[in-house]
Amino acid sequence: MESGLYVVATPIGNFGDMSQRAVDVLRQVDLIAAEDTRHSRRLLQHFGIDTPLMAYHDHSDDRALRRIRGCFEAHESVALVSDAGTPLVSDPGYRLVRCVQDEGHKVFPIPGACAAVAALSAAGLPTDRFLFEGFLPAKRGARENRLQALRTESATLIFYEAPHRIVDTLEALVEVFGPTREAALAREVTKLYETIRRSPLSTLAQFVREDNNQQKGEIVLLVTGASARESELDADVASLLIRLAQELPARRAAAVVAEHTGLRKKQLYDYLLSLK
Ligand code: SAM
Repeated sequence: MESGLYVVATPIGNFGDMSQRAVDVLRQVDLIAAEDTRHSRRLLQHFGIDTPLMAYHDHSDDRALRRIRGCFEAHESVALVSDAGTPLVSDPGYRLVRCVQDEGHKVFPIPGACAAVAALSAAGLPTDRFLFEGFLPAKRGARENRLQALRTESATLIFYEAPHRIVDTLEALVEVFGPTREAALAREVTKLYETIRRSPLSTLAQFVREDNNQQKGEIVLLVTGASARESELDADVASLLIRLAQELPARRAAAVVAEHTGLRKKQLYDYLLSLK
């Protein structure tokens, strides 16, 4: 096989999703660099693959890189796999791919499962434009800042989330995007207890809050992008408006913000109504 780095996607739960090409490549390469060798060994055993394995992540020391480089110098090939899905998508590999390219070697993608794309394909939210956000910051303040920055984004938003944070995150989403914005939960995709559920954010938050089983496993959250009306409003103006509407009637809050920004009172008032 041609010498180079093969970036190989592996299943996100269901081994039936492993492609024949992925199996062939992992059998034929000289070395497999894996995020977690114990984890990947189970997959390789299942497919009867006994290619040598080494651990690799983006903070690996130079020894790991030297070993991989040694393969290329000998015109050999190396595969990169992560624990699940497509390497580099919220997974290690970015540094390695750049380094391999910069040293003049080829990088070949071997496509397959990716939780974000699988979730998007079944969520029932708009797919013409989407923005993959990966994991939100774990700290509350940083997470809220991130969400505020996304409030007027019109593309469908895709987040990865840890089960122990799902309730808090859904509550933060309701707070920032409003209760009626449509969203979807894609949990344990391709596995036995798969959940794909689309509903307004507040309904989704309630569904997850009331069912402990929905707070387990692996989760992708998707949120419809802002409507044209919402995206017209600057994030700072919108948050000021929302804050004022907590103290004043909606019409009065819209009038005050209109006076100070020059925006139309009706646009601001309609925006507040759209959050109800
Ligand atoms: N590289 C992977 C991919 O291509 O999707 C993602 C790796 S990231 C470290 C792991 C996160 O992906 C999980 O915390 C979860 O948010 C999401 N994920 C992975 N497998 C999933 C599944 N079967 N169902 C739902 N989400 C999944």
